[in-house]
Amino acid sequence: MKQEIDHYARDLSPGVGRAVYLASKAKTEKRYQSLARDFPDPDKLRRTAGQIKQHTLEHLDDYLAQAETSLRKRGAQVHFAADGEGANEIILRILQERGAKRLIKSKSMVSEETELVPYLEKNGVEAVESDLGEYIVQIDHDHPSHIVTPIIHKTRQEIARSFEREGLGDYNDDPQTITRRAREHLRKKYLEADAGLTGANFVSAESGRIVLVTNEGNARFSVAAPRIQIAMVGIEKLVPKDADLPLFLGLLGRSATGQPLTVYTQFINGPRAAGQEDGPEELHVVFLDNRRTEVLASDCREILRCIRCGACLNVCPIYRQASGHAYRSVYPGPVGAVLSPLLHGKQFPELADLPKASSLCGACNEVCPVDIPIPDLLLRLRDRGKREKAPRASVDTPPFGLWSHMATQPAAWKTALRLGHAMNVTPHAVLNVHPSARAWRSSRDLPKFRGGDFRKWMRERTKAGGQGNGQAR
Ligand code: SF4
Repeated sequence: MKQEIDHYARDLSPGVGRAVYLASKAKTEKRYQSLARDFPDPDKLRRTAGQIKQHTLEHLDDYLAQAETSLRKRGAQVHFAADGEGANEIILRILQERGAKRLIKSKSMVSEETELVPYLEKNGVEAVESDLGEYIVQIDHDHPSHIVTPIIHKTRQEIARSFEREGLGDYNDDPQTITRRAREHLRKKYLEADAGLTGANFVSAESGRIVLVTNEGNARFSVAAPRIQIAMVGIEKLVPKDADLPLFLGLLGRSATGQPLTVYTQFINGPRAAGQEDGPEELHVVFLDNRRTEVLASDCREILRCIRCGACLNVCPIYRQASGHAYRSVYPGPVGAVLSPLLHGKQFPELADLPKASSLCGACNEVCPVDIPIPDLLLRLRDRGKREKAPRASVDTPPFGLWSHMATQPAAWKTALRLGHAMNVTPHAVLNVHPSARAWRSSRDLPKFRGGDFRKWMRERTKAGGQGNGQAR
C-alpha cells in the first residue's frame, strides 16, 4: 500500500504496460463505435441514465424498503450489513447454519471490498472464484487490476505457468487450451458446491429482480447448481423499475466492451419454485452499506451512480500508463480515485492521495454511461484533502511547492529559464544525483529545452510596431 502511481508505472514490464495500453484503447474504440452505430444521441441516454440513478440515490431509503418487500415476496431472505465485517459474518453464519463447506463464487466487487474469500477460508469454507480472470487472480494470490477484466495485467505465458504450477496440465499458453482446462476444473467445483455467491449488477426495487451479466456464463452455474444462493449487493445497485433495465443493460455492455449486450444476462426471480428442476432452495440477499450512506451524505454522492462498466479506466491516460494495481485498492482508475478514499480512507489514509492521480482531462466524464462528473469530484476531494491536510504519499512526490515559488517570482523564473538551457547539456548522472530526482525521472523523460525568450520576443515585437517575427518558441 505504500508505492505510488509513478512507481507502478515505472515497474510495469514493457510487455504488460503495452498490453494494458492496447487493451484499454481497443475497448474505448469499440465503445465509441457501438454507441455511435446504435444510438442517434448516446449522450442523451447517458444523461437519462445518470438522472435515474441520481433520483434513486436521493430516495434510496424508500427504494431499499421497496426492494426488501419485493424480494421477500419472491421468497428471498434479506439481510443488511453496516460494514464489510458484518457482511462477511452474515454470510459465514448462513453457511455454517446449513453445514455448507464449499462455495462457488462469481464476480462481485463488493466481495473484494470485504475480502470475503480469505475470511471464509480462514473459517473453514472453501471458496472458489469461477470467473476465469478472478480464478487466475485467486490462484496467483494477486489482486484484480480492472473492474471488468481483472487480469488485464497478465500475459498468457504467465497464466500458463500458473496453471502448470496448480496441476492443471503441462505448460501450454494456447488461450483455448487454458480456457478448456479452467472449464474442466471449475465444472467439478460447481457440482460439489453447497452454496453459490454472486454480486448483482442491478436490483429492481419494483419487482425484486436481481440482474446479473457475465460473458462467461459462470454466474448461471453458480446459481443453478448449489442449493443455497447468496447475492452480495452494494445498496447503490438499485434501480426503481424493471422498465429502467433495458437502458442500463444497453449502456453497460457497450460502455464496458463495445458489446450491444453482455453475452449472458440473467434475471433472478427468487429461489427455486415448486415444480422447477434447478435453482437454489434458498436465496439470501445481503445489502452492504460499508460507508455508502456517508458518501451519500457528502458532496461526492454522484459517484454512487457507478454501474462498474470500466469505461473510465479504459480511457484514462493515467490508468493506461500505470495499470490498476497503482491505485492500491479494489476500485482502480478514475472511479477508484474517487470511491476508494471515500470508502476506505479511514482504514488506509494513504489513499487520500488518489484524487491527485488524474490529469483532469475530462475523458472519464465523457465516457461514463451514468454521466458522473468525475473531474469535479476529484477536485472536491483534492480541496477536502488540502483543508484536512491529507497525508502526502511520500517524500519524493514531485516538488510542486518549489515550482509554485518559482512561477510566482519573476526573478526566480528568469533564472530558471536560463538554467533550462543548461539542462540539455547536463549529464544524466548529475541530474539524477538526488534520490528523489532519480525516482521522479525514472518514469519520465524531460523534454528538450528548445530555447526562446518570450520577453525578448515581446520587446522586439513592440519596437517593430506589433509585427515581431512570429516565432515565440
Ligand atoms: S464511473 Fe462511470 S465510467 Fe467509470 S466505471 Fe463507473 S459507470 Fe463506468
